[in-house]
Amino acid sequence: MCLLDLTPPNGLQREHLVSPNQQYGGLHHPGNVVRCCGGCNPRRQVGGKELVWEDHLADIVDKQGHSINVLQERKKRILEHIARYDYPELSDKEVAAITAIAKDLYDRVSEDVNKGVTLSWSIHEDLI
Ligand SMILES: [Zn+2]
Repeated sequence: MCLLDLTPPNGLQREHLVSPNQQYGGLHHPGNVVRCCGGCNPRRQVGGKELVWEDHLADIVDKQGHSINVLQERKKRILEHIARYDYPELSDKEVAAITAIAKDLYDRVSEDVNKGVTLSWSIHEDLI
């Protein structure tokens, strides 16, 4: 079942609680990955940043019209998941290092993709 809205297991996806990107520096670790339905996977953006999982969960529970008790129950379930898989508590320095590495990776991949597209267009124009 989806760990966020408790819907039955149809078309479940993986959801990282802390996004493994250049903004948040989460890890691809079992304690950071939960089963999630397609409806719960996209997070709302506020001020150019996606909501952290606790606020995302509060959004979902609020949209379903549930009480704060339901929110606390679901949050507890997710915290138990994090603890069960022993997701490491990262220091600010570790998160900064991970986000710097992720940013460098994104920059290099983006540069390579742009080079590939430019090369592809150049070849295309030479062949026409
Ligand atoms: Zn869901």
